[in-house]
Amino acid sequence: MANNTLLDIRNLKKYFPIKRGLLSKTVGFVKAVNDVSLNIQHGETLGLVGESGCGKTTVGRSILRLIEPTAGSVQFQGREVTTMDTSEMRTLRRQMQIIFQDPYSSLNPRITVGGMLAEIIKFHGLRKSEADVQARVEELLNVVGLRPEYARRYPHEFSGGQRQRIGIARALSVEPKFIVCDEPVSALDVSIQSQVINLLEDLQRNYGLTYLFVAHNLSVVEHISDRVAVMYLGEIVELATSDELYSNPKHPYTQALMSAVPMPDPRRKPNRIILTGDVPSPANLPSGCHFHPRCPKAMPECKVSHPKLGDDGAGHQVRCLLYPESVPTTNAPAGATAG
Ligand code: SF4
Repeated sequence: MANNTLLDIRNLKKYFPIKRGLLSKTVGFVKAVNDVSLNIQHGETLGLVGESGCGKTTVGRSILRLIEPTAGSVQFQGREVTTMDTSEMRTLRRQMQIIFQDPYSSLNPRITVGGMLAEIIKFHGLRKSEADVQARVEELLNVVGLRPEYARRYPHEFSGGQRQRIGIARALSVEPKFIVCDEPVSALDVSIQSQVINLLEDLQRNYGLTYLFVAHNLSVVEHISDRVAVMYLGEIVELATSDELYSNPKHPYTQALMSAVPMPDPRRKPNRIILTGDVPSPANLPSGCHFHPRCPKAMPECKVSHPKLGDDGAGHQVRCLLYPESVPTTNAPAGATAG
């Protein structure tokens, strides 16, 4: 499995400083991503799920260095990304792309869609003659299900679903290997969401793409993901194959998220677990297990001992003291962050 790895992320951290006073003194840190390790295999889709503010979007952007990570390693095809200089990053950006939740805000309203795609193709020298560039623009619109004459239209002339297709065409225009799909369907009507997900699946099959699919909703990632990682307060709390996670969720947080997913067969649906309390601030993480203030299964030791992300031996990882593989070998001090 290891030699099929496209991306290897180790101990990734992103801390945002909290500054106060006239001298902007750093008085603390928002630990948005706190020691995340993941590997993503060639051609797979890894779903990354959690509530808003859990750090999942920051993970995606740190991998692409749209945000500079505070610490950790990101290896793409064996090459370290975090230390690349500007010219190496420019070359790498062709291989690693992103699709945003709100494509409209990332499209220039004054440039036609065809003009925008042509600009990218020319910038990267992907086609030589003007005729070849225009043919490629039409091909890109075609593969995302838009008519070639739409090349002459401006972003405001499209619906939300069509704009997302344009965002996908833009990502594809540089022929990438890996795409971070950052909540690509969250802003769309439910009826349009499945069309965009089907399109992403078709493109993955046709072009051998690898996805990190970020979403706040477990039902969105179920069908597209080969494996799913669940994040809470900057940490991975569970990771398993999609089938395993949905049939056997282990972490109380995953179980709560799962209980909120609408199911076509209500007999399959677990009783709804309502989590009490707000998500604590990542600037002031709870002691022990960071989930303990909201966990319906919390035990006294959960306040003092920080569980590790343990593997059951079959690839199902969980960070919860209910499972022996998560119990730390030495008890971490209260308030310690993930190791
Ligand atoms: Fe809940 Fe304790 Fe498990 Fe944390 S370690 S998820 S508080 S049972």
